[in-house]
Amino acid sequence: MHIVLVDTSRVVLKMIAALLEPQGHTVSAFTDSAEALDYVENTDTVRVLITSLEVRPLSGLELCWSARLLAESNRPLYVVTMSSARNARNLAEALDSGADDFIEKPPGPEELHARMRAADRLTTMQGELIRLAGTDSLTGLLNRRAFFQRARDAAERVGDHGKMSAVTIDIDHFKRINDEYGHDAGDAAIQAVAREIASEGIVGRLGGEEFAIVLAHRSVVEAEALAGRMRIAVEALRIRGARVPIRLTCSFGVSEWGEGDTVEGLLKRADIALYEAKTTGRNRIVTAASDLVLARAG
Ligand code: GH3
Ligand code: MG
Ligand code: MG
Repeated sequence: MHIVLVDTSRVVLKMIAALLEPQGHTVSAFTDSAEALDYVENTDTVRVLITSLEVRPLSGLELCWSARLLAESNRPLYVVTMSSARNARNLAEALDSGADDFIEKPPGPEELHARMRAADRLTTMQGELIRLAGTDSLTGLLNRRAFFQRARDAAERVGDHGKMSAVTIDIDHFKRINDEYGHDAGDAAIQAVAREIASEGIVGRLGGEEFAIVLAHRSVVEAEALAGRMRIAVEALRIRGARVPIRLTCSFGVSEWGEGDTVEGLLKRADIALYEAKTTGRNRIVTAASDLVLARAG
């Protein structure tokens, strides 16, 4: 596991790192608690934070609390406080400040290794729960909530002047597939489309037979090209039906990130373009920026 270690003494840091590293752990050691917090915040491979209570400029308890807040429900993080004075008050305060565990300083090797095994079990389970909570069970794509969260994170990184684009996708006449071939065939169609569009970017299933893709650092021209390849790939799909293979098509809306934009705005414009693709014949791609039909039905 990737472990962040915080103590004012370099000797203590070295000693604990020497216990952890031979067990296959990666240790990042800090004497400054604010630097440690910054590192944890910007490094999502960090699974464990071990901090002494007596650190500066943030106290160990403040560090626990801040680390707990930034991890929230988005990432697994196990927080351990460490103190030479193991008394009930220290322990209670640490746990109330968001620590998961408390160890004596300096920790004995056996205790430390056992605590790390517990941390591994817990963070693995946490990670799996977080993944499941953000996953659409039918397709394995991101669900609506996770999609928007990931897209907003990407937008923040792209910034006001960066490149980004979006594609929204809706299966054409999907009700007919359900009505003519049954709900199971409908589900299989949704799964097949999901597989075709899951190649690039942040891909989510936003509703029944509606999907969206956010492409960070990609221009609208690249998004159109991607949508074009997907349109043809979906057209070529043959879904196993009870009697005959089922064919289907999708309509696509494309939009481009602009100054002062929001993810909601970006997706909204792609949706308006998608609506136009529906009303002008389906199985086509419409781009919001230019309001032009860029690919015609094949
Ligand atoms: P359009 O070309 O205008 O998009 O027509 P459409 O028939 O696809 O229109 P609409 O979006 O209204 O139909 C969506 C249908 O998808 C309605 C709903 O019964 C069905 N549906 C929603 N979720 C699921 C699902 O998980 N599985 C299946 N099999 N059907 C679903
Ligand atoms: Mg729909
Ligand atoms: Mg539809």
